Amino acid sequence: MPEKNGGTAKQPLKPKKFPERKCIGCGERKKKTDLIRIVRSPEGEISLDFTGRKPGRGAYLCHSVACFRAARKAHRIEQNLTPGSPVPESVYDALEEELQKDDA
Ligand SMILES: [Zn+2]
Repeated sequence: MPEKNGGTAKQPLKPKKFPERKCIGCGERKKKTDLIRIVRSPEGEISLDFTGRKPGRGAYLCHSVACFRAARKAHRIEQNLTPGSPVPESVYDALEEELQKDDA
């Protein structure tokens, strides 16, 4: 994306137009809309949130199989959402399926 204001190293004081979230795989900050949201509902159920509107605590992941693998290997989803209890395999399966769709 091209810089609009000359591209100095200074941080702009204006608020950002898009909220940013950190990917739990690579740790990069990206626009929320560029990330997949994984949400833990108030009932403790983990699911993928494609609308960004499900209630509960969220974790974010790039549309990248590499980020998914890194996050899975390091158990980042449970670290972020369900400390002390494992993330169901079905959640990982659904995520992987979604990401492979993108790669195809
Ligand atoms: Zn990432």
